[in-house]
Amino acid sequence: MVEQIDLTKEEVRGPRNLSRLLKQSLDSSHLELLRTVSAAASSQGIDIYVVGGFVRDLLLESVSVDYDLVVEGDAIKLGRMLTKNNGGSLTVHRRFGTAKWYLSAKLKSETGVSDLDLVSARTESYERPTALPEVKHGTINLDLHRRDFSVNTLAISLQSHDFGDLLDPWGGLKDIEEKCLRVLHSQSFVDDPTRVLRAVRLEQRLGFRLEDHTAELMDSALPLVDRVSGDRIWHEIEKTFGEESPETILARLDEIGVTGVLHSALSDQVDSWLVERFKDARERISRETLPVIYFALWLYRMRWKDIKAVSRRLKVTSVIMRVLQQTERVRGEIHVLKELSKPSEVARVLDGISKVTLLVIGLAEDESVSENIRRYDDKYRHVKPTFSGLELQERGVSHGPRIGAILRRVRSAWLDGDISDTTEEEELVQELLIEKRQRS
Ligand code: ATP
Repeated sequence: MVEQIDLTKEEVRGPRNLSRLLKQSLDSSHLELLRTVSAAASSQGIDIYVVGGFVRDLLLESVSVDYDLVVEGDAIKLGRMLTKNNGGSLTVHRRFGTAKWYLSAKLKSETGVSDLDLVSARTESYERPTALPEVKHGTINLDLHRRDFSVNTLAISLQSHDFGDLLDPWGGLKDIEEKCLRVLHSQSFVDDPTRVLRAVRLEQRLGFRLEDHTAELMDSALPLVDRVSGDRIWHEIEKTFGEESPETILARLDEIGVTGVLHSALSDQVDSWLVERFKDARERISRETLPVIYFALWLYRMRWKDIKAVSRRLKVTSVIMRVLQQTERVRGEIHVLKELSKPSEVARVLDGISKVTLLVIGLAEDESVSENIRRYDDKYRHVKPTFSGLELQERGVSHGPRIGAILRRVRSAWLDGDISDTTEEEELVQELLIEKRQRS
C-alpha cells in the first residue's frame, strides 16, 4: 500500500525530492532498472529524467510502468550503450532523436517491462496549424514545455547526485493538486487540435476539470479538428477505447461538439442503449478485441452511407472495415435471426461471418438473436456433409457451381434434421443427381 502523499509537505514543496515515494511505489527491480539507465547516462555525461504521465500518476498514487525517459543529449547513443551492456535490441527514429530499448528476455522477466522510450530533449515549432512540427534539440525545461497539459510537464531527475528531485518548471504540481487541466500557451490547440481529444480523455480518466481559459481556447479551436488527418484522429479514438469507460469520453466529446465536427452522424450516439452495450462488452470480451467492438457498436444504428463516410474520415483499417461490412450484411437479414428460423436459414445468414462480427451482433441485438448465434457457433458451423466435392465429380458432376449447390443442399438437410444418417444422405445425393440429370 502506497503511503498517501501530502503535496503540501515541505519535502515535496521545498526540496521536492520524491525518492522516498519512488522507493515506496516501485518494485525493487524497477528501481534497479532506473538506476542502470541512470548509470549509463552518467557515464556519457548526460542528464536523464523520467517525465510525463509516469510522474503525474505517481503523484496521484496510481503507479504506471510506462516510463518515458528524456535525456539532455543523444538518446540514440545512450540506447546503444544500454543494449550493448545489458542486451535486448534497439529501434531508433533519427528525425526525432528517439530510441526504444526492448529489454532482454531476462530483464523483461525480472521487471515485467518490455521496453523503455528514450527521447532526446527537444523543442518543437509549428510552421502552420495542424502541420507536423519542426524539431530541434533542447533542454529538459523546453522539452517539458512542448507537452500538451501542465499536469504532464513534471519530471523526476535520475542523476545519482539528485536522484528523485522533482522538476516543475510549468506549474504542473499545483494543477495536479487542484485537479485541473491547463494548456501551456494559447496556441496549443491551434498547433495540434488532437489535444482537444486528449484533453477530454484525460479529464474523464483522471476526474479533472478543464481550467476556464483552457476550455475557452478549446472551444475556439473546435473547427480545426476537422483539419486533422484521419489516422491521427483514429489513433486518439483507439486510445479512448482503451480507457476504463469510453462511453463517458464519447458523451463528453458529444457535449463539447467534437463528434459533430468529425462527422454529423457521430453526434448523439451515446445513450442508455450504447452505455449498456459497452458495459456488457467489457464484461464479456478480451481487452485486445474491445476497441473494434466498441467502434462497431458506436456506429451500429447509423445508416450504411454514414458508416462508410465516418470510416473513410477516420481511415479505419481494412480489418475493421470488414467487420462493419459484415455487420451490415447480417443486419439486412436480421429478421431471420430474430425468429425461430430453420437452422439452415440461420447458417445461410451467418456462414463466413467472423467471430468478432458475431460478437458485435450478439451484443447489439436482443436475446433471440444471441440464441441463434450461440446455436450457430456451437453446432451449425460444424455441420458438414460427409461427401466431398471430389466424390461428386467421380459420380459425374462436372467441376463448377453445381457441386457447391449440391453440397449446400446436403448440409441444409443435415442441419434441418431432414436426414440423420449416411444412408439417408446417400439417398438424398442420388435424388439430387437424378434431378440434375433431368434438368440438363
Ligand atoms: P499518458 O499521459 O497517460 O501516458 P498517453 O498514453 O496518451 O497518456 P502518450 O501518448 O504515451 O500518453 O504520450 C506521452 C506524453 O507525451 C504525454 O504525457 C504527453 O505529455 C505528451 N504528448 C503526447 N501527445 C501529445 C500531443 N499531441 N501534444 C503534446 N504533448 C503530447
